[in-house]
Amino acid sequence: MTTDEYLIERSEERQRQELAALLLAARARMEQPQAAEARFAGFDGAHCFDCHDELPRVRLLLGRVRCVRCQTRAESRGERA
Ligand SMILES: [Zn+2]
Repeated sequence: MTTDEYLIERSEERQRQELAALLLAARARMEQPQAAEARFAGFDGAHCFDCHDELPRVRLLLGRVRCVRCQTRAESRGERA
């Protein structure tokens, strides 16, 4: 089970606490030059880079550009992020 899937299966209250922490992490990440948007030209910030399904907010906050299914496929091809 990935960290993402683990977060999604939490209770709502736990998720709210996690989201608060993730927001802080996302804010810190915005200060880094290697943003996901720079590596994935065409990513619109809301939909999976590969299949264009709407991404869960938790994944967006984690800075992910793919849904769990496409991410798993990408990692099986040897790609990171
Ligand atoms: Zn996808």
